[in-house]
Amino acid sequence: MNLRHEIRLELNNISKSFGHREILHDISLQILPGHVACLLGPSGCGKTTTLRIIAGVEKQDRGTIKIDGRVVSDAKTHTPPEKRSVGLLFQDFALFPHLTVEENIAFGLIGSKFNRRQRINDLLEKVKLVPLKKSYPHELSGGEQQRVALARALAPKPKILLMDEPFSNLDDRLRDQIRDDTLAILKDEKVSVLLITHEPAEAMRMAEEITLIKDGRVIQTGSPVEIYNNPKSRDSAAFFSDLNVVHGVVKGAEINTAFGQFATPHLVEGTDVEVLIRPQHMRIHFDRNGEGPRPTNKDGKAVRAQVIKSKYIGNSSLVEFLTESDDLVIKASVPAVFLPEAGTKMWISFRRDKSYLFPCAIQQRVQNPYKNDQSIQHEVWK
Ligand code: ATP
Repeated sequence: MNLRHEIRLELNNISKSFGHREILHDISLQILPGHVACLLGPSGCGKTTTLRIIAGVEKQDRGTIKIDGRVVSDAKTHTPPEKRSVGLLFQDFALFPHLTVEENIAFGLIGSKFNRRQRINDLLEKVKLVPLKKSYPHELSGGEQQRVALARALAPKPKILLMDEPFSNLDDRLRDQIRDDTLAILKDEKVSVLLITHEPAEAMRMAEEITLIKDGRVIQTGSPVEIYNNPKSRDSAAFFSDLNVVHGVVKGAEINTAFGQFATPHLVEGTDVEVLIRPQHMRIHFDRNGEGPRPTNKDGKAVRAQVIKSKYIGNSSLVEFLTESDDLVIKASVPAVFLPEAGTKMWISFRRDKSYLFPCAIQQRVQNPYKNDQSIQHEVWK
């Protein structure tokens, strides 16, 4: 089996500068046929530029783009946008205001009149716009306009659909439903999709594969489950939630923290280490009221802390604590209404299997904290 032909879109080491500023540094990613991949990153990190390069409206300075194993752009080749079989869907939908829904969908369709009619009718059914086919864009709601734009982008059956923040102009209440409906249509069409977004929840909901970028560099690629549960750096972890940070310094292949000891066999003696814990992985020992002896369990040491404040944020409560022993501020999320008063004392600990341990970011820049020249990676401990 030749795996190369099973990759619909492949970017290898794409770099791009505007003036003297390098915006993209060695971006690589792959999308399999029929898969939805997501380019996730903060504003200005280079997502739209990457999309424009894939579409062919911008040219990279270095690197190769292949579609179905065939080079469409490298130092020698530059296939024009209309020959790449790539569709585009923008944030503002960019519908033609003087054309009706069906005329918008028909735009760009080629082939016999019969086939074009069939394709339009098929798409009108899929996006549930048959009753509105004679309407003009200004007569439609935001959600309906999004569906017209989607149908128009899919009409010529592109191999790849590039979607640039396509849900960001929609009403919050509608967005989840529209995302789900869109995903169902994309799957039905079996198109490969690269969706760009700065919203982690959107990427988690839509994508089979996420490429996380920061400052024009890929910092991690993986499935939503992998990337959320096994971040390779503090930046990756921080992208998906708030983080609690507990410090320790490596001494004798372990660190000693307020929440107990962690083995650090791969780190150099004296390395400053951060243990990161998401608020939802903190444990509050509700039964103890902060009294009695320290609770112990397989998660190690519990710490006594005082509630600073608590608030209910919809599906869960967020409680902020100050630890007694070393004044650490720790946030815990509880999936219920739990609003203890400020000053309440409680024992707290966290799930070790859900915590991440990395050498402190500042120190990483001055020396390699890993023994045996290992690259930066997620530490394992027992
Ligand atoms: P956003 O989510 O805000 O749209 P983004 O991740 O899509 O951001 P890009 O639009 O790709 O980011 O822009 C990345 C950087 O490149 C920005 O600093 C932007 O100002 C710069 N940039 C983009 N296009 C050009 C251009 N044609 N000339 C100069 N600088 C540009």
